[in-house]
Amino acid sequence: MLSLLDFRVRQRDFLLEISKAITSRLDLNEVLKRVVNASVAMLAGQVGIIALRDDQGEYHIQAVLGLSRERIPELNTRLVEVIQTASARDTELVNARLREMAAIIDKRLIQSFAIPLSFGGEAVGLMLVFRNFQGGATPDDIQVLQSFADQAAIAVHNAQLYERMNFDRKQLAAVVQHSADGVVILDASLTIISFNHAVERLTAWMAEDAIGLKVEEVLALARVEKGDLHRALENGWPYAGDESGDDTLYVEGDLLRRDGLTTSVGIHYAPLFTAEGKLANVIANVRDISNFRQAQQMQNVFISTVSHELKTPVALIKGYAATLRREDVTWDDAFVREYSGVIEEEADRLTELIEDLLTASRIQADRGLSLIPGDMNIVEIVRRSVARFQTQTENHKFELDFPKDFPVILGDETRFRQVVDNLLSNAIKYSPNGGTITVGGTADENTVTLYVRDEGVGIKESDIERIFDRFYRVDGALSRKTQGTGLGLFLSKAIVEAHGGTIRVESTPGKGSTFIITLPRS
Ligand code: ADP
Repeated sequence: MLSLLDFRVRQRDFLLEISKAITSRLDLNEVLKRVVNASVAMLAGQVGIIALRDDQGEYHIQAVLGLSRERIPELNTRLVEVIQTASARDTELVNARLREMAAIIDKRLIQSFAIPLSFGGEAVGLMLVFRNFQGGATPDDIQVLQSFADQAAIAVHNAQLYERMNFDRKQLAAVVQHSADGVVILDASLTIISFNHAVERLTAWMAEDAIGLKVEEVLALARVEKGDLHRALENGWPYAGDESGDDTLYVEGDLLRRDGLTTSVGIHYAPLFTAEGKLANVIANVRDISNFRQAQQMQNVFISTVSHELKTPVALIKGYAATLRREDVTWDDAFVREYSGVIEEEADRLTELIEDLLTASRIQADRGLSLIPGDMNIVEIVRRSVARFQTQTENHKFELDFPKDFPVILGDETRFRQVVDNLLSNAIKYSPNGGTITVGGTADENTVTLYVRDEGVGIKESDIERIFDRFYRVDGALSRKTQGTGLGLFLSKAIVEAHGGTIRVESTPGKGSTFIITLPRS
């Protein structure tokens, strides 16, 4: 047996060793191994076990001494019984269960010690020591075990904390990495230290090239619309100690990407301070607002074109009506008929425009286009439409080019007439020098094709993909001179698609355009 002094010295040495293990590394298993070694050695025992409690309150053996790890599953089951009786606070029963457990490990083990591991009043585990002699548990024995158990509990707590922190860190990194918005983390000198996928897409910079650069080299704005990072910095931004959380700086403008293109962005710069109030980081949240800008621009164009298109017939109606109402003159019948005719025509134009706007907004809201299908004779529709337009122009010649057996197909005649009217009206509008407008078609087993060809101004490659967009009008002197809302082709495309067909255009600027519609026969 050890003398009391030796016992104290050894206890101190073990404690020192364990606390060193706790502070020098965070490997929990290593610390537990040392705790169980020390406990068994101090009690002159043969077997030691440390079990830890998981989040569900279940205990699992984590460290053992004096027995093979293969026995852990079997002992885990035994442990459950010990824990269950322990919670019933029946010391006798607990002791009996412990004796049973000892006998299962090795018949020679006749004395057991059980010490809970707890931290901050919460149970984190349990330590068991078994020995092959009955020594009577002295207060010293218990105190030794308790001091080791306390160390083990600290280590468990630290490890759990570390694990949670690690998890939180990984979780946060994943959120940032996969955020749909661009996130750039800057240090206090505004040098980039982190860069997520979304900013890579937005700026065309790769994270590895951007990290280490100053923010202005990567988030360079070609044009600033709102806010100014540099001006704000000169004025003392960010203001340390502002707890309100409103210390975010918003900057909006055109970002100059690495590939030379520009994108409209909105950037929120949010400062992050240390506990001492020193600037630690600035988080830049970068959002692509080009769609929003485009929508805003489209809305502006829409308001100006639509109000212009609405005003023209209203002004004509008002002028003609005022003339008819004059009390100082008596108009003859023919004059009244002519003027009322203009008023009627202009009112029709207004109705048509309003109809178009309503249809466009219905399509935009995804409520679709309803068709009333029936027999649709495309050649007949074209013939009537051409006859109507022929009266409106003198310097355009119309030619029809349909095979004799061009089929009648299933479709909505009223809607389809709108498409043909629109293509013919455009062919006239965008061929200011006149020329021939050819409307023709071909048919095969499954589809029919209709084309409208003009010899007009043509359409630039870059505009071709946009002319079917709502309110899109090619910017140019001719468009500015000609009436239009940019709705015609948008509606035509919607009608053709509602028929299960497609519409496209082939064009050579300066030579003319051909619009081609393909529809299924059934
Ligand atoms: P709108 O004619 O009311 O402007 P559309 O949707 O019918 O609207 O046409 C969109 C744009 O496409 C027009 O503004 C015009 O610039 C262009 N475009 C349409 N048809 C032709 C054509 N046949 N030739 C040249 N440009 C055309």
